[in-house]
Amino acid sequence: MVVLINDGMEKQKMRKHKVVIMGGGPAGLTAAYSLVQKGYEVILLEQEMQVGGQSKTIHYNGYQFDLGGHRFLSAYDDVLSLVKNLLGEELGTVPRKSSILFDGRLIRYPLKLEDVLRKMKLSVSARAVIDYCWEKLKNMIKEGPEESFEGWTRKRFGKTLYDIYFGMYTEKVWGVSPKTISADWARKRITSVNLMEVMKSLIGLKKQQGVFECSEFYYPSQGIGRIYEKLAESVIAMGGTIHLGSKVSEITLGQGGKIASVGYERSGDHCETSGDWVVSTIPLPEFISAIRPAPSEKIQQIARSLPNRCLRFVALLVDRSQITDNLWIHVPEKHIRFFRIQEFGNWSQKMVPEGKTVLLCEFACNKEDSLWNMEEERLKEICIQDLEKLGMINRAEVLEYRVEALEYGYPLYSLDYKEKLEILYDYLLSIPNIVAHGRQGLYRYDTMDHAMKTGMIASAIVAGDLPRKELIRTSEVTDQY
Ligand SMILES: Cc1cc2nc3c(=O)[nH]c(=O)nc-3n(C[C@H](O)[C@H](O)[C@H](O)COP(=O)(O)OP(=O)(O)OC[C@H]3O[C@@H](n4cnc5c(N)ncnc54)[C@H](O)[C@@H]3O)c2cc1C
Repeated sequence: MVVLINDGMEKQKMRKHKVVIMGGGPAGLTAAYSLVQKGYEVILLEQEMQVGGQSKTIHYNGYQFDLGGHRFLSAYDDVLSLVKNLLGEELGTVPRKSSILFDGRLIRYPLKLEDVLRKMKLSVSARAVIDYCWEKLKNMIKEGPEESFEGWTRKRFGKTLYDIYFGMYTEKVWGVSPKTISADWARKRITSVNLMEVMKSLIGLKKQQGVFECSEFYYPSQGIGRIYEKLAESVIAMGGTIHLGSKVSEITLGQGGKIASVGYERSGDHCETSGDWVVSTIPLPEFISAIRPAPSEKIQQIARSLPNRCLRFVALLVDRSQITDNLWIHVPEKHIRFFRIQEFGNWSQKMVPEGKTVLLCEFACNKEDSLWNMEEERLKEICIQDLEKLGMINRAEVLEYRVEALEYGYPLYSLDYKEKLEILYDYLLSIPNIVAHGRQGLYRYDTMDHAMKTGMIASAIVAGDLPRKELIRTSEVTDQY
């Protein structure tokens, strides 16, 4: 946006409003793209040497992988058309094929209960059906509690299915009892099923539809990170500035409580910049701890207490063209350390060299756990041993490996997370020139398209077209998949 200002001695001259954006993931890049399009001067600071954040693709020695395969879907027309325009023919659609590994058998996921009941031992299937009916009956007499993940899921699936899949898997991914996780997370990620309909289909009275979710999704042939590489190229082509390797370390408040400057470390130097607006997509706890003068002890303490699950990824280049036909496999059982396996040759053949595939094993942990601090070589060994236990590979087939990590992998919705966030969001609103958004900026279990949508909303807020509260309202939208 070009505005006229009077800057003292000089006559009026043209000046663009300047916006500093912190973080170059989907949320920050989309805000940058929208703002540059509107004519703003944009400077984006990204700590890594690559854009894309959690949605980047690692290109390594001729093969590629995402940090956990990323499906692109969107109910937002503007987000979808932006991605389609950026990617052109590089964007294809991929049919979803995923399973749960249970008791040595692969069961299709999203759960087609018909498949679950047929593939499980008869005694387990019978127990699942009885438990489901019992749960329904109990709830007809007296509605059971559903504020925790456990309560919500048991009520919809019964004890057996909860125990053998949802409970075990959730505990492995989050490292805490599902009793302490808010049901909001289940509401976002799991669609309940009507077991009566499933039973009718089992005895041939009804043809069962695939239960939850979509059957295909968008995916760029060279990995999800291509969307964000292209977005960054467009931002630069339109005149925006992106500084990679620039870690925000200090955010200084000045007159009227506005952010006066943003300090960042780049190639060993301390640099500073400032803008009329600051857009933050860096993790909320990091943002709060960078503010000078520091906010109240209460605000700092709440920000520090927001739990967060770290992720480590081991990618193995395997000398075989395909291991299974799944894109990913959930592994709930405790004796295997990783919780999911991705096979990138099935996402796109362009991700892997000819005749080979890439398996990516995903591990969840906390920062103080041995898994987080374990040497890469040791982690790779665990990975290979467990894949051998599952009968999926021979160690001799592993040609090379690469380990990656995400410190802020999953925000963990504890039972009191909403009250905590309300206090932090009020604090954010007390700083007149900040707009925080995205998965990290608002501590939200967000998908890429929603993070991008919030980038567009952030730009509308900066332009004065929407109130800042709009982002907080939008952060409550439930994901559709
Ligand atoms: C394992 C996994 C699988 C997923 N699968 C899907 C999927 O299938 N589909 C889907 O839609 N979504 C998926 N997601 C979610 C998706 O990755 C996120 O929604 C999206 O990346 C969020 O974008 P963001 O910009 O808000 O945050 P991020 O991607 O986290 O970007 C934040 C950026 O800020 C940078 N940063 C942090 N601190 C600083 C600092 N101090 N200074 C400068 N820069 C900083 C980071 O380096 C990063 O680049 C998945 C996430 C994970 C972890």
